[in-house]
Amino acid sequence: MQDSFKRKIDYLRISLTDRCNLRCRYCMPAQGVKKFSHRDILSFEEIERVIRVCRELGFTKFRFTGGEPLVRRGVMDFLEQLPPGDWYLTTNLAVDGLDLDRLNRLPLAGLNVSCDSLKPDRYRWITRLGELSAFLQNLAGVRSDNLKINAVVMKGFNEDEIEDFIDFGERHRATVRFIEKMDFASGGPGFSSLSEIKKQLITRGIIEPEGKQIRNSVSSYHDLKGRAGKVGFITPVSRHFCPTCSKIRLKANGEIKLCVFAAENFNLRDLLRSEPEDGVIRDRLAELIARKPFRPEGPRTKETMAEIGG
Ligand code: SAM
Repeated sequence: MQDSFKRKIDYLRISLTDRCNLRCRYCMPAQGVKKFSHRDILSFEEIERVIRVCRELGFTKFRFTGGEPLVRRGVMDFLEQLPPGDWYLTTNLAVDGLDLDRLNRLPLAGLNVSCDSLKPDRYRWITRLGELSAFLQNLAGVRSDNLKINAVVMKGFNEDEIEDFIDFGERHRATVRFIEKMDFASGGPGFSSLSEIKKQLITRGIIEPEGKQIRNSVSSYHDLKGRAGKVGFITPVSRHFCPTCSKIRLKANGEIKLCVFAAENFNLRDLLRSEPEDGVIRDRLAELIARKPFRPEGPRTKETMAEIGG
C-alpha cells in the first residue's frame, strides 16, 4: 500500500500495553503517568484483526512493543500462535520471572533489547527501577539469530560507553544500535548528536566509513573494521528518515498514529468494536495511510514514548 507520496507503507508497529516495569527518564516521567483504562486497551483478538487486515493491505513487517510488551498478561500465548510472518519484538528484557525457553521458541524474525548503560549505577539511575544484573541474566539466556541491542546515547550520561557497547555486542553476537534521544513529554539527560560519535569511530578505525541503509529499518549500519559484526546509528533528530518512512503505529488503546511526532491520532478501536466487516476496517486504514504526512507537521505530540510505543 502506498501513501500519497508514493512511499510503500508495509510496517506496523504495535504497542501491546502502555504499562512498563521501568521508568526510563527519557521515556516517561516518574509519576503522574495517566494509564489507559483496561476497557480501552485492545484485546489480543482485536490486535489480530488489525494485523489480518494490514496483511491484506500488503503489510509484511510487524513489531510488538510497549510500554513493556512482556509484562502484558497472556503475551506469550498470543505471540506463540502467530502465523508464519515477519514478527519482531522490542523489550527491555529486565522483566522478573521471564520464561526464556518460551521466549526463545517464539516465531520471531528478530529481537531488539534496550539497554542504555553497562554500568549498574547508571542503569539503575536512567531506568529509575531497573537492575542491570536482571537484564544481563536474561540476556545470557536469550537465543536469537537476529539480536539487536538498542542504546539511547545522551549527553554526559553514556557517551563514554560507546566502545564498551560495541565490544559487548560482539561478545553477545548482537548488533548494537545507537539512538539519538528524541524530545518527548519526558526528560532525562540532554541530546547527543550521533554524527560526531560516528565520525570519531571512523577516524579511530573502529568502523568502516561507508554506511548501509536497509529497507524498513531506520538505522544506517557500518561494518566493524577487522572484526565480524556491525553497528547501527538511528538519527531521528540530526537526519530525519521521512523520505523512506514505511511505518504506521497502533497504540495499545487502538489509536493509529501516522507519524511518531504528530499530536493527532485516529481512533480505530470504536470501529473495531462496532463493525463486523473486515472490509470496512481495511478501507478505513487505507484512507488513513493515504493521509500520512510526508514529514512531521501540525502540533507536536505531548504523549510519552511509553504510550506511543517507541
Ligand atoms: N519497553 C520496551 C523497551 O524498552 O525496549 C519497548 C518500548 S520502548 C518505548 C522502545 C524503544 O524506545 C526503546 O529502545 C527506548 O530506548 C526507545 N525510546 C524511548 N524514549 C525515547 C526517546 N525519547 N528517544 C529515543 N528513543 C526512545
